[in-house]
Amino acid sequence: MSVAIWIIATLLVLGALIYHRSSLRVFTLGTLVMLGIATGLSIFGNTTLTVLWIIAAVLLVPLNLGFVRKNVMTKPILAMYRKIMPEMSATEKDAIDAGTVWWDGEIFRGSPDWKTLHNIPAPRLSAEEQAFLDGPCEEICAMMNDWEATHELADMPEDVWQYLREHKFFAMIIKKEYGGLEFSAYAQSRVLQKLAGVSTVLASTVGVPNSLGPGELLQHYGTQQQKDHYLPRLATGEEIPCFALTSPEAGSDAGAIPDSGVVCKGEFNGEEILGIKLNFNKRYITLAPIATVVGLAFKMYDPDGLIGDKKELGITAALLPRDTKGMEIGRRHFPLNVPFHNGPIRGNDVFIPLDYIIGGQEMAGKGWRMLVECLSVGRAITLPSNSAGGAKSLALVTGAYSRIRRQFKLPIGKMEGVEEALARLGGNAYLMDSVTKLSTTGIDLGEKPSVISAIAKYHMTEKLRTAMNDAMDIHGGKGICLGPNNYLGRGYQGTPVAITVEGANILTRNMMIYGQGAIRCHPFVLEEMEAAHHENGKEGLRRFDKAVFGHIGFVMSNFVRSLCFGFGGSVFIKAPTSDSTKAYYKQLTRFSSNLALMSDVAMGVLGGSLKRKERVSARLGDMLSYLYLGSAVLKRFEDEGRQKEDLPFVHWAMQDTLHKLQESQLAMLDNFGGVGSMLKAIMYPFGRIAKAPSDKLDHKVARLLMSPNDARERLGEGQFLSERGQYGYVEKVLRDIIAVEPLYDTICKAAKQRFTFTQLDQLAKKGLELGVINAEEAALLERAEEGRLNVINVDDFAHEDLLAGRGAREHFEKQLAAKQDAA
Ligand SMILES: Cc1cc2nc3c(=O)[nH]c(=O)nc-3n(C[C@H](O)[C@H](O)[C@H](O)COP(=O)(O)OP(=O)(O)OC[C@H]3O[C@@H](n4cnc5c(N)ncnc54)[C@H](O)[C@@H]3O)c2cc1C
Repeated sequence: MSVAIWIIATLLVLGALIYHRSSLRVFTLGTLVMLGIATGLSIFGNTTLTVLWIIAAVLLVPLNLGFVRKNVMTKPILAMYRKIMPEMSATEKDAIDAGTVWWDGEIFRGSPDWKTLHNIPAPRLSAEEQAFLDGPCEEICAMMNDWEATHELADMPEDVWQYLREHKFFAMIIKKEYGGLEFSAYAQSRVLQKLAGVSTVLASTVGVPNSLGPGELLQHYGTQQQKDHYLPRLATGEEIPCFALTSPEAGSDAGAIPDSGVVCKGEFNGEEILGIKLNFNKRYITLAPIATVVGLAFKMYDPDGLIGDKKELGITAALLPRDTKGMEIGRRHFPLNVPFHNGPIRGNDVFIPLDYIIGGQEMAGKGWRMLVECLSVGRAITLPSNSAGGAKSLALVTGAYSRIRRQFKLPIGKMEGVEEALARLGGNAYLMDSVTKLSTTGIDLGEKPSVISAIAKYHMTEKLRTAMNDAMDIHGGKGICLGPNNYLGRGYQGTPVAITVEGANILTRNMMIYGQGAIRCHPFVLEEMEAAHHENGKEGLRRFDKAVFGHIGFVMSNFVRSLCFGFGGSVFIKAPTSDSTKAYYKQLTRFSSNLALMSDVAMGVLGGSLKRKERVSARLGDMLSYLYLGSAVLKRFEDEGRQKEDLPFVHWAMQDTLHKLQESQLAMLDNFGGVGSMLKAIMYPFGRIAKAPSDKLDHKVARLLMSPNDARERLGEGQFLSERGQYGYVEKVLRDIIAVEPLYDTICKAAKQRFTFTQLDQLAKKGLELGVINAEEAALLERAEEGRLNVINVDDFAHEDLLAGRGAREHFEKQLAAKQDAA
């Protein structure tokens, strides 16, 4: 064997061991075997061989002898680590500890096991949940008149409120033993999706009590007495809850609330008791104006040591009945013309008993932990579901509108420019539903996915913003002129609300996703941090040693994997499928290895200052997010039985996601100095690998949205498409328009004239005269014309009607009656 062959063989063997993340022992054995071969076959001279054996001994002996390794190598590393990495603050630690790691951990670690993803059960609704969606949920959607709520009443009408209470829409998360519906996270998501397709006011009003708030907090932390008192009343809607954390000086930095509660004696119901004197000023609180019970977050102090030794107990959550003496409540904010109830709450020297604290006195100071724990669940359900539902309905209605509306003698959806926006709508809607499906499945399996919930919240609300813009652009003036006939305008106006609440999006992208993801999903970082600050030095050193050497092996492995994938493409990567989705699995694996390596390089180079390097954190977070979004799309395709007709949606969603993933990697590498350039040379030696969806693919997706078919039906699955609603009406008109298109062609042919596709009622007369259509077909043409005009026309108002916002109800009822007559 020549020297060159031995070197190549050694590199291959050791590289393969590192690639497969073999243990240190196996790696040592591999090295010894290769050295043994070199010695046995006398590949080198004696001096070279001796040098090689000495180098191997110097490196491998201390590494394999735990005692030596810890004292000679680990101790100095630990000392340096402590200098670079500051200890986490209590609030950071609470946020990190609050959630669990699930599929996000797998995709962060560079080598996702796709079988694990496929083995996650597909989401299912129980018979009861399905009945709720088909019954009360459909009914409330039909009852809701968004124009009346947004323009005339600045509220939902009383019959809608009553129906919501009676059918326990506010009690989806409350356990059955307290009279609630106790729905799965998946079922909650489907309900919210349907409501969001009809009215933002409706979806927000139902979403909030079922998300983070008194109901959720009481179930997890309430005393038995509090649960018995409040939960049954919340379940029937007798009590309407709100939760007040935000104050004028503390929005995103909610941990900095200045609101205080001081333990003292005071008079309550005529008796002197030990309690808390509260001073607070809250704003932006959803449902506050009508809430009967207020969850209030404040910082608790016990300066006189009345309940213990601690003077500053920390953030605490209490429940205050609306009539609490001194609390000012009832005024409203006006969030972007989407008038769900939202307003300020204030209180000066408001005295409450200690047992108003959620969970009682022993939970004093544990409010922050309670909030972040519950937020990790609610954030993955409410806003992502509202966004996905909105996008699904928008994709369908805009596809239909694009076929109904004609300009330049063509349905506008056939223009290439419109196709581009339509394709984005379709692809994003498929992806968004995939994400809500996967995330809620995780919750139903018992996860508290804090990283996934931040990913889902950010990306779904951003994608809704894109979808809303696309739908508005395609509808043109029809989307702009507000009125009972406008099914887009209010949703468009309200889109920034979702961007801002539950962690404003810039903050969520730049700080939260990767900030939590890096620590939670990384296999070694959290362990290193905990070990470095362990109270028992010896135990800390033992744990740190294990973590840090595991970490080094992990980095080496990801380096070798990225190198192999860079130069060898996807040949080395296994995929669980063999059809056209195979390449996507391979690319995701490749990008996952790259992310794992880039993440460690960023942490190594920037250390503790990575926290302040928000652009780096944002791009790493984007990579993790796109890996999650891509996984969700592939999982959905599998779960739904690999429906061939859905492939254009799948291809669009995957290609867009992989392309964005690649661009965020390149943006990070281009902004990371010399190290970035070196990594780029390894990861992208032949340039870019992922292409954005092609024009041809855009065309296919756009066409799917423009006529009824199975893939389109699956895309809109669960949305409110009954003819009693606006979107359902457009669907019906779409069917009529498609049905009359051949009649139009027949008449044009018989008349030897190309008529415009307008005045179809007149065309019907012509067809009858020419004897090429029958009476039934003529009636169909007349109906299609009426529907077409209803869809493309917009409202106009008398000046005084606009001023007062009057007349909406009458208008709605007239329209509904007309539609029912027509049907
Ligand atoms: C309609 C509505 C309903 C709400 N409902 C409730 C409720 O029921 N209960 C409740 O307690 N609160 C509620 N909120 C409050 C909401 O959660 C806060 O508005 C949100 O946390 C943002 O605070 P802010 O508006 O003061 O923005 P700011 O904190 O002033 O932030 C302004 C901008 O700076 C960015 N930013 C801030 N810090 C960073 C950072 N470190 N890195 C990068 N960017 C950063 C933010 O992303 C944002 O873009 C609601 C708000 C609205 C508008």
